[in-house]
Amino acid sequence: MDFSTTVVLGAIAGFTILLGLPLARLKEPSRALQGFCNALAAGILVFLLWDVITKASDPVNIALANAKHGAVAPFVGLVTLFVVGFGLGLLGLFYIEKTLIRPTAHGVRAGDVTPRQLALMIAVGIGAHNFSEGLAIGQSAVTGAISLATILIIGFGLHNMTEGFGIGAPLVAAGVRPSWRFLALVGLIGGGPTFLGTIVGFGFQSTYVFVAFLSLAAGSILYVVGELLNAGRRLGFRELAGWGLLLGFLAGYATDLIVTWGGA
Ligand SMILES: [Zn+2]
Repeated sequence: MDFSTTVVLGAIAGFTILLGLPLARLKEPSRALQGFCNALAAGILVFLLWDVITKASDPVNIALANAKHGAVAPFVGLVTLFVVGFGLGLLGLFYIEKTLIRPTAHGVRAGDVTPRQLALMIAVGIGAHNFSEGLAIGQSAVTGAISLATILIIGFGLHNMTEGFGIGAPLVAAGVRPSWRFLALVGLIGGGPTFLGTIVGFGFQSTYVFVAFLSLAAGSILYVVGELLNAGRRLGFRELAGWGLLLGFLAGYATDLIVTWGGA
């Protein structure tokens, strides 16, 4: 696949995240809908967490098999990146949270992360995942393993729509109606990296960069899932939330199957 076609595919794969974001503009959602949306986002992100850990582990496992035959250095390098990336993604957000939330005089938390801050953190986690996704697309384009197929465009569109939901739903859950400008910003943070990654992956390939961004994504997504589950407990509607979790996870899984079927 030539460079310009690859760029088009990267743009489609990246900016379809904008399709899911307008959900956040819902006017005065009921408390039940808030609980459902919050759980839906958690379900989508649990799927993504599983997805990024699996994808990051593949090259580590291959390197481990090669280490048996003497090539130890690549395994050590990859496993170190995995641990450091995961730790940075996870702890990084806990420390950012600590900085964002001013402690009271008694050192007690003054409040929680605001819905907008949470949406930004989710966008960062999804952005790290999408940079790796872009790298993989760019790399497949070079080797000719991928084409600008309709099924792939539909697959990416739906997959990234769920990611857009994942970013926007916590705002609905908190009854916060963000501006279009804010949605464009989180869309750019979450989806822009796919586009960038596709261009980078077309010109340069590195398993190390791939694993680094996936493990960063895994750590930050784990943080966000914790926050969402915590918010869900306060919102109530437990059974409905259970359904939201299930449907969010399955939506992520289904769209991933479509993308895989499409050849990515
Ligand atoms: Zn993605």
